[in-house]
Amino acid sequence: MTEAKPRVLVLGSSFAGLTTARFIREHAGEAVDLAVVDRNPYLTFVPNIQMEVLADRDPLESMLLETPKIHDRDGNTFLNAEVIAIDPDARRVHVVPSDRPGAATEVLGYDYLVIALGNRLAYDQIEGFGEHGDTVSSGYYGNKLRRRLAAYKGGPIAIGSARFHQGLQGKPDWLPVGLAACEGPPLELALAMAHWLGEHHLGDAHRITLFTPAGMIAEDAGEQIVAGFLKMAAERGFGYLNKTDDVVRLTADGIEFRNGASLEAEIKIVLPDWVPHPFLKDLPVTDEMGFVLTDRRMRNPEHRELFAVGDAAALTVPKLGGLGHQQAEIVARQIAIDVGVLAPDDAGPDYQPEILCFGDIGAHQGFYIYSNTWFGGHTSVFKMGHAPYAMKLAFKEMYFRTGGKPPAFGVPATHLLMDHFPGE
Ligand SMILES: Cc1cc2nc3c(=O)[nH]c(=O)nc-3n(C[C@H](O)[C@H](O)[C@H](O)COP(=O)(O)OP(=O)(O)OC[C@H]3O[C@@H](n4cnc5c(N)ncnc54)[C@H](O)[C@@H]3O)c2cc1C
Repeated sequence: MTEAKPRVLVLGSSFAGLTTARFIREHAGEAVDLAVVDRNPYLTFVPNIQMEVLADRDPLESMLLETPKIHDRDGNTFLNAEVIAIDPDARRVHVVPSDRPGAATEVLGYDYLVIALGNRLAYDQIEGFGEHGDTVSSGYYGNKLRRRLAAYKGGPIAIGSARFHQGLQGKPDWLPVGLAACEGPPLELALAMAHWLGEHHLGDAHRITLFTPAGMIAEDAGEQIVAGFLKMAAERGFGYLNKTDDVVRLTADGIEFRNGASLEAEIKIVLPDWVPHPFLKDLPVTDEMGFVLTDRRMRNPEHRELFAVGDAAALTVPKLGGLGHQQAEIVARQIAIDVGVLAPDDAGPDYQPEILCFGDIGAHQGFYIYSNTWFGGHTSVFKMGHAPYAMKLAFKEMYFRTGGKPPAFGVPATHLLMDHFPGE
């Protein structure tokens, strides 16, 4: 009789889950049975949606990557299902097939669990968002903004973030507290939108105000980079409002903030709070908000068979896909070590966050940020020009061609090309 292989269950098949599953297969080979659960049989390539929107192209045509065939080629079982409950003590996950309403609940057992379910982007917590708000985090919202831009009358535009509520329970000292979940998108949107206004003879940066709940926008990029950015933004004419505390309400005429301030705006683009899924709250493996607690090897300290990767993990602050990518490799090696395929010495480096980000700023130009000063390091690189834009496009192409598993030379090659690129 052949012995049953350890069952690995990966929940989520987006940036974090897809890459983790692929690395587990690479490192653990045939030593595990691997199943991946996602409510959608595709990944949405969120970072490049704004480029499609501002070029008036439908992001649903170009930004969706079908994932079941990638898992099939790797020998993984893909389950198109909604996760509705996790029981870490019983090692059980409750799912409901999500391809057609009315399906019955099933229970999946596991020996290793990887939670890569991201978060809810909580637009539903912002009063008036449905009628008056815009964003670029999905194909639906991208197309809604395209329609809004087509009807744009030339009024003020406000772009910024609602308040993020990070968990503090179990937070290590080296991890700062972020007041916004992900503020690269507002920066690139503002710059690219200013270009769009000029291109359409509708004005320039003077129409746009950036806002943030924090003392400084995109604070995780580090003070030096943000100070340079704010100086450049002021020279170009952007408005800037900080310490807004939170977004309370959107109306037809503008935005009201928790600190009492308000902004007049015809278009209101808001990045919301990143909130854990309800079924993650009150579990023994999550913090008081519902983010999954892990050490730097992305393992839960109590349930050593349970891992978290990507936005769902408490250590992922800010909420950046690039951080999930680093964690994916760590988790895959940990599982391969546990099942005896890799040696303990093969663990690789522990999770060491750094901000690596390419932004689109219009006119076929972009910015590149590589920084770890927010986490106590000394690296702070900011470049602008055509090369970062080309890299942003190239990354998406490589991601799709490799099925979410960019080659090992990708990150070192990025640093080789970009850190020494003179900027324009
Ligand atoms: C506008 C915007 C621009 C961004 N730009 C960048 C950028 O340039 N660079 C960068 O590094 N990061 C960027 N980010 C952040 C990045 O998108 C996230 O960090 C990343 O998507 C997190 O990946 P994830 O796999 O952890 O979660 P998600 O991408 O949120 O994926 C979660 C997956 O789980 C599935 N799922 C969720 N709940 C359930 C459930 N109950 N049952 C079954 N399946 C479920 C979803 O369908 C999805 O496939 C941007 C974010 C936004 C909003």
